[in-house]
Amino acid sequence: MRIEEKDQKIAESLLGKLTLEEKIGMIHGAGLFETKGVERLGIPPLKMSDGPMGVRMEFEKDSWKPAGHGDDLVTYLPSNSAIAASWNRQLAYQSGKVLGEEVRGRGKDIILAPGINIKRSPLCGRNFEYMSEDPYLTAQQCVPLIQGIQENDVAACVKHFALNNQERNRLWVNTEVEERALREIYLPAFQAAAQKGETLSIMGAYNLIRGSRCCENTYLLDDILRGEWDWKGIVISDWGGVLRTKESAEASLDIEMSIYPNFDTYCFATPLLEAVQKGEIEEHWIDEKVYRILCVMSALHMLDGKRKKGCYNTPEHRQAALETAQESIVLLKNAEHCLPLQEETMDRLLVIGCNAETMHSCGGGSAEIKALYEITPLMGIQCALGGNTQVTYAKGYYVPPIAELEENWQLDSFKDGVGTAEVLDEETAKKRKELREEAVALAREYEHVIFVGGLDHQYDVEDRDRANMKLPYGQDELLEELLAVNPDMVVVLTAGSPVEMHRWADQAKAIVWNWYNGMEGGHALAQVLFGKINPSGKLPETFPITETDCSAHCVGDFGKKEEVQYREGIYVGYRYYEKKEVPVQFPFGHGLSYTTFAYDQMEIEEDSQKIWVSCKIKNTGNCAGKEIVQCYVAAPGEQIDRPKKELKGYEKIYLEPGEEKNVTLQILKEDLRYYDETKRQMVWEPGNYEILLGASSADIRLNKKIRLEKL
Ligand code: BGC
Repeated sequence: MRIEEKDQKIAESLLGKLTLEEKIGMIHGAGLFETKGVERLGIPPLKMSDGPMGVRMEFEKDSWKPAGHGDDLVTYLPSNSAIAASWNRQLAYQSGKVLGEEVRGRGKDIILAPGINIKRSPLCGRNFEYMSEDPYLTAQQCVPLIQGIQENDVAACVKHFALNNQERNRLWVNTEVEERALREIYLPAFQAAAQKGETLSIMGAYNLIRGSRCCENTYLLDDILRGEWDWKGIVISDWGGVLRTKESAEASLDIEMSIYPNFDTYCFATPLLEAVQKGEIEEHWIDEKVYRILCVMSALHMLDGKRKKGCYNTPEHRQAALETAQESIVLLKNAEHCLPLQEETMDRLLVIGCNAETMHSCGGGSAEIKALYEITPLMGIQCALGGNTQVTYAKGYYVPPIAELEENWQLDSFKDGVGTAEVLDEETAKKRKELREEAVALAREYEHVIFVGGLDHQYDVEDRDRANMKLPYGQDELLEELLAVNPDMVVVLTAGSPVEMHRWADQAKAIVWNWYNGMEGGHALAQVLFGKINPSGKLPETFPITETDCSAHCVGDFGKKEEVQYREGIYVGYRYYEKKEVPVQFPFGHGLSYTTFAYDQMEIEEDSQKIWVSCKIKNTGNCAGKEIVQCYVAAPGEQIDRPKKELKGYEKIYLEPGEEKNVTLQILKEDLRYYDETKRQMVWEPGNYEILLGASSADIRLNKKIRLEKL
């Protein structure tokens, strides 16, 4: 959605009529999720709500107490990790459209989503809200998502700009990163969101970059965002991200929001008003902010009475949530065609594991949702099997109860955020053992067993990173014992970031990866397990064996309190594992299907700007399915050290059994450039490029060399 000349004219004319006090009211929180409007001029307040999995519940205006409304239950969408794992741009758009309609339907103007930070380490607490370790995949999936949201006369607020890759000490940690990594890994998705997605707002992150807070960082906000990218939207601080009045006022940050209800004492409230009155800060800084806010309001039709009204909780929204969930589930392993399970011959089934019945929608931090409903895996399985199969459920592991908070956790969210390892007191150990023994005894008796475990929002959570990649609640030991007595047991893991699997993965025949998959997630999972849906998700991130294999940990720093050095540079995710030949549990782009696909007849064409890579894909199995054809490019690497290959294109295609289709992927040559630190710009490298087509980063089926001279 673009800011047009007409919006600029409206903004200009209104700006001239505003008093300083009125302008100040428009640039800081006057409620926890809203600014002040100017009634006499018909300027409404800006109302915001959290995402990205749906529109958050209503809070009281000035406290984190739920407002207690009965009408703020909403559609719960699959997480951003799931949307990325679908590798389906259309589904990203559709999810955005649902979210945007619900935002408007709930009477909001801005949705604080999507989160698009790069998954630098598997331990970042908010990975489930983010998309991928790869900037291209993140950019490709977030642009249609933003477009879908904004078609509904509401703004997306892309977050957290930038380098918000850990939760530990998130308000104070300083991030040191070389320019090349910033430009090649951490900024491209934000640039795509700003320029291609035309997001109308961006959230300034909490952390510091090179010693300067993101919400007062003129290099980030002025030089890059407004200057190089020529972006006209508004920058909103993360809640509490502004700490100094002058520094933030004189950077192009537009709105200060925070978690405290002392609105008049925010930096952009009385302190800024007084500084302007005393002549310490020039008023034009405020005018520029208000002008941008008015432009956005006009673009959203907040000022002309011609605004879309939105809707929420429609059957179409639930259907969209289901479709994304169906395409995001990743079949990681399927030895001996263990899956799909044949429900016709199944008289009884044993389901083990707390995640079979845990509802996740209400957790995770600001991504929490008051879902209209949430179909759990257990419910999905029972609904699918009906009355002819007897389903027995055993918890299998013990999840200690969580202390109920009087108010929302967010009021207290500026603590250190250090990930703590599990404490195993005597009582917990006893309960764990009892549940394990019960489950193992049952698993011995049953022919068909499905385990549903993984993480929950005690681990995939805002404000706290994980201490390690281990499965919590003693699940490793449980899985070892269960697989020893029932080697055919299907393992399903629900989580937003990878977990260690090396203790039992070789023993398991089938492993299914299920994200926080929205209100219809349980149905989608059951459809995959019983073969109604052929799985077609692929991993948007590498699953390392353990976290110390990951470059953020073994080369750079992760989770330090004061400062984190991104010494690994551009070698994040598969770029690192491939370069250093580090074995991984499951590679980037990996995901199996119940059918098989053959790749053939690769061809390449080019013009001065683009390259078209095509091949024939044939479904060689006996059921219909979708394949994600991935295109990686290996650059010459003669001028500078470059990754072995990088993702530069993908397409998802549907094929009936025996069907063959031609698929063409388009690559922009400008996407093949690297960042030259001395020239301080993206640079084209002439030479021999290798173009690779495959089913994952580790399963390349076709390749061709091509000499590319110039851009
Ligand atoms: C989070 C943001 C969120 C905001 C408002 C902050 O603590 O980092 O992602 O949008 O709170 O709830």
